[in-house]
This record gives sequence, C-alpha cells and structure tokens, in this order.
Amino acid sequence: MSVLLGIDIGTSGTKTLLCNQRGAVIASANAPHDIHTPKPGWSEQDPAMWWRAVGKAVRQVLREAQIDRDQVLAVGLSGQMHGAVFLDENAQVLRRAILWNDQRTAEQCRTIEQAVGGRRKLVSMVGNPALTGFTAPKILWVRQHEPDVFAKTRRVLLPKDYIRWCMTGEYATEVSDASGTLLFDVKKRVWNTRIMRKLDLDAQLMPPCFESQEVSGHLHAAGARALGLAEGTPVVGGGGDQACGAVGNGIASSGVVSATLGTSGVMFAHAAEPAYDPEGRVHTMCSAVKGKWCVFGCMLSAGASLQWFRNELGKAEQLQAQQRGVSAYDLLTRQAALAAPGSQGLFFLPYLTGERCPYPDPQARGCFIGLTTRHTRGDVIRSVLEGVTYAMKDQLTIFESMGVRVSRVRLSGGGARSGFWRQLQADIYAKPAAIVNADEGPAYGAALLAGVGTGVWKSVPAACKHAVREVQLLRPDRPTARRYQACYTQYQRLYPALADSFASIGQMDSGI
Ligand code: ADP
Repeated sequence: MSVLLGIDIGTSGTKTLLCNQRGAVIASANAPHDIHTPKPGWSEQDPAMWWRAVGKAVRQVLREAQIDRDQVLAVGLSGQMHGAVFLDENAQVLRRAILWNDQRTAEQCRTIEQAVGGRRKLVSMVGNPALTGFTAPKILWVRQHEPDVFAKTRRVLLPKDYIRWCMTGEYATEVSDASGTLLFDVKKRVWNTRIMRKLDLDAQLMPPCFESQEVSGHLHAAGARALGLAEGTPVVGGGGDQACGAVGNGIASSGVVSATLGTSGVMFAHAAEPAYDPEGRVHTMCSAVKGKWCVFGCMLSAGASLQWFRNELGKAEQLQAQQRGVSAYDLLTRQAALAAPGSQGLFFLPYLTGERCPYPDPQARGCFIGLTTRHTRGDVIRSVLEGVTYAMKDQLTIFESMGVRVSRVRLSGGGARSGFWRQLQADIYAKPAAIVNADEGPAYGAALLAGVGTGVWKSVPAACKHAVREVQLLRPDRPTARRYQACYTQYQRLYPALADSFASIGQMDSGI
C-alpha cells in the first residue's frame, strides 16, 4: 500500500496525517508548539521548534500506521499563513519568525498604503488591503527596527516553506501562501515586482513560486534522515491553511462555499475569476486549485459568542452538563430551539472582541437590542445564535455583491456539531447546507494535493470528488427563511446606527 503524507505547521502545533490512494485517512498525529509574546500584541515562534515538531509528528504517524518509509508516495505541506522567517546567505535563521497574529505593524501598514497611492490602489495591485498580520509589513518593521538583521537577510520564507527548505534544500513557495504576503500579483499568479520596487525591497527576497499541486522538490538525504522518510520523496507546493482546509472540505468548484463556525467564523468561496471587494473587507487569494481563486472573510467572535454566554450566563447548564456527562452547549441550544424564529424581536450583535469582516472596527461591541419583559432565556440564547449567523451571512452578502456565486454552503467547526445550529444556518443563509465526511483540516488537503502532484488524481477537483462526500444535506425551510430575510434586513441596520456610539464608548473606557 502506498500512502500520502500531509503536514500542517499550525500555530498551536504541527499535525501530520496519512491517507491512502482512495483518500481514506489512516492515521494522524500532533506535536505542540510554544508561542513567544515578548511584548503585548507581539507573537513569535522559533522555526527550529517547528522543524523538531515536524520530525516528531512524522515519525509518530508512520509508527502508528505501521507504514514503511518507502510506502510514502509524496508529501504535501500546509501551514499558518503570513508569518515571516528571515534567513541569511547561509540559510541560517536570523531571528524568531513573526507570526500572522502579531500586531506590531500598524505604522508599516500605513506606509505601504501610502507608497502605492491608497487602499483601493493596493487592493487592485495585490488583492488585499494592508493588514497587520500580513508578511510585507513585517519585513518593513524589521528593516526599520532591526537594521542589522535586515542587512543580513537574503530570503524571507513563509512558515511551511521554511520546513520545505529543511526537507529539500529548495527555496520555494506556492500561489496560495504567496497571496498573503501583499507582494504577490494575485490576478497573474506571479510576484508583483512593481510593489516590491515601490517599497524598495529586493525581488530576490521572495522564493520561486509554484502552483499548489506542483512538485517543488524532493527530500534530500539530511531531510529524509531527520523525518524517517526516503530520500527522493517528492514534496508538492501545498498551500496556506485556509487553502488546504478548503481542499480538505472539497471546496474546489464554483458555487460551493464553506462556513466554519469555530471560535471565529470563516466563510470561504471558490472563485473561477479573481473577484475583489474594492473596500478589502474580504480577502481574495489564489486557491490551491490550479489557475483558480478563492475569497474568504473572518468574523472574530462566532463560536466565541456562545462560549461567552455559556461561561458567564450559563453556570446552571455547565453544572448540569458536568453531572450528566453531556455538553453544556447542547443544553443551551435545546432551549434556543423552543423559542420562535426571530427571538420575538430580540437581536444580538456579536462584536464581543471588535470586528474584522464586514466591519473592520476594533471598537465595535456586543449588544442585545430589543429586550422586553416577554423575552425568555430561550429567546436570549436563540438571539445569540441568530446574531452570529447573520454576521456570517454578511460575508455571503459581500461575496454575492462581488459576483461570486453561492449555491451551497458546507458547514464545519464546533458550531456545526449542533443539529439546531445547522438548520438555523440553512434557514438564515437561505441556501442548502451540507455536512461532509472529512473534518480533518488543512493536513488532509495537503495530503490530497500530494496525490494530485504525483498522479493519483488528475486534478484537485477530481481528488475532492473522489475523497470528499456530503453525508447530510439540509434544505432551508421556506417560511422560516422568509421570516429570517426580514430579520436580517433589520440586523443590517444596527451596526451603522451604533458605530459612533461604539467609538465614544471606547474613548470613555480608555479614559476611566
Ligand atoms: P476552535 O475555533 O478553537 O478550533 P471549535 O471549532 O471546536 O474551536 O469551535 C468551538 C466553538 O464551537 C465553541 O466556542 C462553541 O461556540 C461551538 N460549539 C462546540 N460544540 C458545540 C455544540 N455541541 N453545540 C453548539 N455549539 C458548539
């Protein structure tokens, strides 16, 4: 039996996964990572720690599945996006990698927008606005604050591409991860040398770029030894975690969108053309499907809103759940199910930690609006679930305004564990909603890409068709969906009416 190996360099750990040539997962393993926070808002990791974690997790998955190294047909890499690894001329790491969730670069983001002539111009050049998490502002920060490090820097690699270098000795990346650097022409799928010139960055800093499914190199002797794999094993481009997660969910053709309700909430759509939101509220990137694109957005407090309710206002359910050995979330959603659609006119705005998409506003706040004495606990819980789902629908609304087709939504993440929340999503999105068999995340997508790169499947859509099946399909209930359309229209008016108050409440807070 030959197998495919997927490796995902996540933030909290490295995950490895083996699947067979039918796409069935045989085994997976994890090795944890530490995060350094040298100052508030900073977030860094040691690339050498990633490499040790990869070694551990690869050996473990081979051992568990009792797979011999010669049986591994190919490797696919996935990883946290945007992070910057700075290497000198001997490929030595010059400082800890600065990660996607590091917030130190607000000034550099302004510099980038100014250098190209404003936000809209930047979006038209690289598909995205300058956000603190992206790679280019990190490079400018190092140039400004650590000139000695910058002077020695010859290459900047994304996290998974540093691991590729350790495995193969090749400097390389691929289109999906390159899209998150702000230095890449997402439309043409090549490095954007014009923006690099404007920022006075050497084009040689960034490595050669492949399509996600292409073989970018082969394991060299030292890489093979470190991982317990065979020298010469091909390594494909792979993809950023969003792009690989989408492949693992089978999002590889027009009209199919994924809605992931985790702590945050991400909508991800396949796009046959590179469509942009001129305001940059959602990201447009190259997808892991050859010659195609994706758009995605992220709301900050999705599952986190229900989690907050459980922790602060659901002590009784937590106690009961402990005693009965069930999930407190199930006890809460059961009460919500008894309330009527629309929660008797009660609305919840889920901006508990500010918002990113559709409102890039760190000062936005959570609210209950419309409370009366008639409202029950069930109404309140239901309004939380509805508010989060309206905010997810906001992302779909932006996609459709960009001309991205949405005909079916695939549900995943912790929120999709609840049957009630699944149907609620179908009703509020007013689209058929499906659950798929695979819920293995980016490492699975990376393994499927490895299979495409070595001829197991002829394309990424073919791999998805083969490996990913819908196991449940929920259709919107028409009268409920109509009711929710009216509620959603009302919901959309609330943030604009409150935005000024959020800003002044923020000022009051910082003055206290
Ligand atoms: P993460 O984003 O940390 O990977 P998960 O995908 O596991 O987290 O999602 C966690 C969230 O999913 C929780 O905050 C909660 O809101 C929601 N959740 C988990 N289990 C349930 C459930 N049984 N019913 C409803 N929501 C749930």
